[in-house]
Amino acid sequence: MNIILLGAPGSGKGTQAAKLVEFFNIAHISTGDMLRAAVSAGTPLGLEAKSFMDAGNLVPDEVVIGLIKDRMGDEDTNKGFILDGFPRTTSQAIALDEQLAELARSIDVAIAIDVDPEVIVQRVCTRRFCPTCGRITTASEGDTCLMCGCKLETRADDKEDVVRKRLEVYEQNTAPLIDYYRGKGILHPIDGDRSIDEVWADVQKIVTED
Ligand code: ADP
Ligand code: ZN
Repeated sequence: MNIILLGAPGSGKGTQAAKLVEFFNIAHISTGDMLRAAVSAGTPLGLEAKSFMDAGNLVPDEVVIGLIKDRMGDEDTNKGFILDGFPRTTSQAIALDEQLAELARSIDVAIAIDVDPEVIVQRVCTRRFCPTCGRITTASEGDTCLMCGCKLETRADDKEDVVRKRLEVYEQNTAPLIDYYRGKGILHPIDGDRSIDEVWADVQKIVTED
């Protein structure tokens, strides 16, 4: 099963991706995670990407397309994959189609998680993560991680002004991809403004009925 998750930042793509990974045992490909890893490791690619990310802008297409080209060559993607945060522009979508055609693969479903922008601002600004165990949680948990007791942190790009910028970038560059995949007949929109389990029930139905 090859799946694309579409949706604004903070719409819950990462959460649903984690559930899909467990359900199907397929590869989770998150360009955001890959870029953050490159930033932490201080690689040349990370250094280039950081300023774009911190400002809420997209990292240039050729950089992320290069990352995906490499990643798709990995053995574990043969059993299926979930793309989370890619493609984010029409050029990225076209590059992906070309590469998948070369590999004789295709996308089975594109799931678009829809959430009201104001709900997103609220969600993302209260989002916290544990730098030690990697868990994503909310400010309501307090200052320390319930699992390991470490101090929770806020992602550098989860500040309100940057979140609003990311939403604007999403509307402009990424929302048009919903029509792109609708045109291919593989789009499944879902209401993401519900509990994680309710959204998951819909996602599960889509991927098992396809
Ligand atoms: P979110 O979905 O919450 O915005 P991500 O972790 O997917 O977070 O992405 C964080 C940042 O990484 C984006 O704001 C952008 O700068 C960069 N990024 C991730 N994926 C892409 C992509 N496919 N194309 C361009 N930039 C990307
Ligand atoms: Zn922790």
